[in-house]
Amino acid sequence: MDAIAELSLEDFTVAVEPGVTRKALNRHLHGTGLWFPVDPGADASLCGMAATGASGTNAVRYGTMRPNVLNLRVVLPDGRLLHTAGPGRQPRKRAAGYDLTSLFVGSEGTLGFLTQATLRLHPLPEAAAVTVASFPSVRAAVACTVQVLQAAVPVARIEFLDEVMVGACSRYSKMELPVTATLLLELHGSRNGLAEQQQQAEEIVRLNGGSGLAWAEEPEERGRLWAMRHDAWYAALALRPGCQGYSTDVCVPISRLPEVVVETKRDLQDSGLTGPMVGHVGDGNFHCILIFDTQDPEETRRVHAFTQRLGRWGWGCSGREKRCRVRSRVHSHLIPPHPTLPSPPGHGFKPRTGKYGHPARPGQAGELGGEKLDEIQRGQVQGAAPGEK
Ligand SMILES: Cc1cc2nc3c(=O)[nH]c(=O)nc-3n(C[C@H](O)[C@H](O)[C@H](O)COP(=O)(O)OP(=O)(O)OC[C@H]3O[C@@H](n4cnc5c(N)ncnc54)[C@H](O)[C@@H]3O)c2cc1C
Repeated sequence: MDAIAELSLEDFTVAVEPGVTRKALNRHLHGTGLWFPVDPGADASLCGMAATGASGTNAVRYGTMRPNVLNLRVVLPDGRLLHTAGPGRQPRKRAAGYDLTSLFVGSEGTLGFLTQATLRLHPLPEAAAVTVASFPSVRAAVACTVQVLQAAVPVARIEFLDEVMVGACSRYSKMELPVTATLLLELHGSRNGLAEQQQQAEEIVRLNGGSGLAWAEEPEERGRLWAMRHDAWYAALALRPGCQGYSTDVCVPISRLPEVVVETKRDLQDSGLTGPMVGHVGDGNFHCILIFDTQDPEETRRVHAFTQRLGRWGWGCSGREKRCRVRSRVHSHLIPPHPTLPSPPGHGFKPRTGKYGHPARPGQAGELGGEKLDEIQRGQVQGAAPGEK
């Protein structure tokens, strides 16, 4: 079940079976000038990504799984086979009849088993550039994100790291970055178009007091920066060896992002918790990675209370609700129910263990699994998908 079939370079489509991961597909596409951009960080299976409606760093430019899945072959619970858009079809438009494809994307395996997904491919950009912009405050970094989007700068990725996360990532990845609120910003385009985008982005960064705008255009350097970002979970765990990590997941409308991030940061500080923040802020999505001692009931109580307060930013976004279930299994394992607070959803599940084969590192917890680090592929090769390691 790991066949990659029906690759159509003219139609920008390909069909994959459940055993195909996103990195395997992009390796297969190497040299075709096309790529599949949805990148949730983990090297997940593409059918699993369709089943969870995955998003990730590139979603701000290329969308989540939903617009990038064109057809699904599904085995229904009664054994019947269904092609959600009709057999052999890969429609760009789905105006006639029920949109069954969208119904199955994000259905988490509850409606049927996906045995093939037909995906929309994208042309590889002629040029790409990444910069690390440092800001005087969290509010300035997040406000800059909002303004970049409002100015219609077609960013491919825009990722936020607070100063705690930057410090952790710098140490973990042996890079020397200013320990302050940071945006990692990637642009894709033609050579001329890129220069114009860079100029626009720089202007907005400076308007918000940002600095440090050296653009990395070489694939190896870009790959190194994204590897640092993708290792954020492990970098956070390394802040307190022997402690456990619990990642929260919040998504809010872009307009509320500065206020919500600043208030969450204040809450973290007032609670005395270690919770580096990182986020796909272009989608209004951010995480606090709480690192705490599960043997300390008082600290556990503070984590529990903090996550309950965080839940009030409940705009019903994909990020928070979709993954709440997965994360809550860990939550319920790590955080015993507090007598005065309601139990987290899913309490009583067994913790999810790592399935991406990330090697256990001394002194670090790895309950959430994580991206398999393929050191060999770390340096990006010419023509490979942007940001792929
Ligand atoms: C380190 C890390 C970072 C992540 N960051 C993000 C992020 O930023 N944004 C984001 O959106 N997600 C993120 N994720 C979640 C990621 O998107 C999902 O783990 C992934 O999409 C699920 O694919 P999988 O192959 O791992 O599926 P599994 O974990 O195996 O399954 C997930 C669900 O999909 C169902 N499923 C799997 N395959 C099929 C199939 N063939 N047919 C029907 N149902 C199926 C399963 O029943 C289950 O309900 C992250 C995960 C990790 C580990």
